[in-house]
Amino acid sequence: MREYRIAAIPGDGIGQEVVPAGLEVLRALEAREAGFRLHVETLPWGSDYYRRHGRFMPADGLELLRRFDAIYFGAVGDSEIPDHVTLWGLRLPICQGLDQYANVRPARLLPGIKSPLAGRGPEEIDWVIVRENSEGEYAGTGGRVHRGLPLEVATEVAVFTRAGVERILRFAFGLARGRSRRKLTVVTKSNAQRHGMVLWDEVAAEVARDFPDVSWDKELVDAMTTRMVLKPQTIDVVVATNLHADILSDLAAALAGSLGIAPTANLDPARRSPSMFEPIHGSAFDIAGKGIANPIASFWTAAMMLEHLGEKDAAARLMAAIERVTADPANHTPDLGGSATTRRVTEAVCDALRGANL
Ligand code: ATP
Repeated sequence: MREYRIAAIPGDGIGQEVVPAGLEVLRALEAREAGFRLHVETLPWGSDYYRRHGRFMPADGLELLRRFDAIYFGAVGDSEIPDHVTLWGLRLPICQGLDQYANVRPARLLPGIKSPLAGRGPEEIDWVIVRENSEGEYAGTGGRVHRGLPLEVATEVAVFTRAGVERILRFAFGLARGRSRRKLTVVTKSNAQRHGMVLWDEVAAEVARDFPDVSWDKELVDAMTTRMVLKPQTIDVVVATNLHADILSDLAAALAGSLGIAPTANLDPARRSPSMFEPIHGSAFDIAGKGIANPIASFWTAAMMLEHLGEKDAAARLMAAIERVTADPANHTPDLGGSATTRRVTEAVCDALRGANL
């Protein structure tokens, strides 16, 4: 029996709804597969923990996490605590502290789900966006001088290291090589940002020599937004900086139907530390506690986690169950124009997993 230790961190807002739903689905899958066991420990970290302890996770939180095989994360964000405090309190310290440098965000039109792009079908929106997740614009470098005075200055310095740029480009080329279209688009803004972004262009050309079987092109980030809308079929794998890919992947999620569907893996490809799997959406206070959050993103995220753990058959079965469920509009939550609840969608996926014909 293969055994895995999973740290579940539901966190804030709808994370408290979609992570338990995901764990329920994983239990149904585990009962069906029989080849593996998941030992799940739920950690109560997040904004309520901060209110009680003055921090979002314990001081030795990273060391605690290192004992697990994977982290299943919900969201962090609170209506009373500024976003930069919550983000830098929990999610970014985990991603950066565990060197989960590759943020992988698939965007695909699932069966039954319509893109807001008129007339576009599943064969035209099937992308993977790879986001550099350890440095760049979110390196945290900078500061404020003359705080509160009229001459106040703030700097926010993007940091690009050759090693950091090279490792994410190698990862993205490798990922593109494993897909049928073997195509990579390297997104930068190297016309206007002539240091870090030109380094990206140079390193991309160097790394490309080791991947002659991958066809690649370059796109400026502004042009990329129009290409995603007007020529989605020309895109396969995309790699970009922390900020650029953050923005592009929200657009990708919307074009693939809803933020409530889109999953993310924060990977340490070297596997020195556990990787973290989460929906790309945040805490979504407007719908928290109403039981209507779309749990599909957290289910797809769970499938990515199983795939990373080496449970490829189980991951494929879970994706098949998800696709069977999305194909029926009666299972669409309000973000997809339906009236289904989180509970209904969760039960539908569990039922599909228990069914004999999957
Ligand atoms: P945060 O500040 O934590 O990033 P947010 O509320 O600003 O959270 P998101 O949670 O990313 O932003 O989502 C923006 C909006 O998209 C939400 O307010 C909600 O209306 C919708 N949304 C996001 N995720 C879901 C979901 N799983 N199901 C349904 N609607 C969702």
